[in-house]
Amino acid sequence: MASIKIRYKLGCIYLLLCILLASCDDKDKVECKEVHDGDIVYICTGRYSKKYHSTDKCPGLSKCKASIIETPIEEARTNYKPCRYCIIQ
Ligand SMILES: [Zn+2]
Repeated sequence: MASIKIRYKLGCIYLLLCILLASCDDKDKVECKEVHDGDIVYICTGRYSKKYHSTDKCPGLSKCKASIIETPIEEARTNYKPCRYCIIQ
């Protein structure tokens, strides 16, 4: 139980900042998720994008100037790293 809690905190930097700073509107809150094989994740097709996301609402995708596409996690893992805002690592 304790280890789950710690992983949750480490994985949810964005959410933690929201709580600490109380600076995020509800609409900005992102739910952190664990991703598993077979899941669909979101990536920005822009040249400089290096992360995959569990939700297309992630603030990490808000700067995406290209399109945001859905892709299977297995494929995303080969070229991208998990986003620290929306994925529990
Ligand atoms: Zn993200």
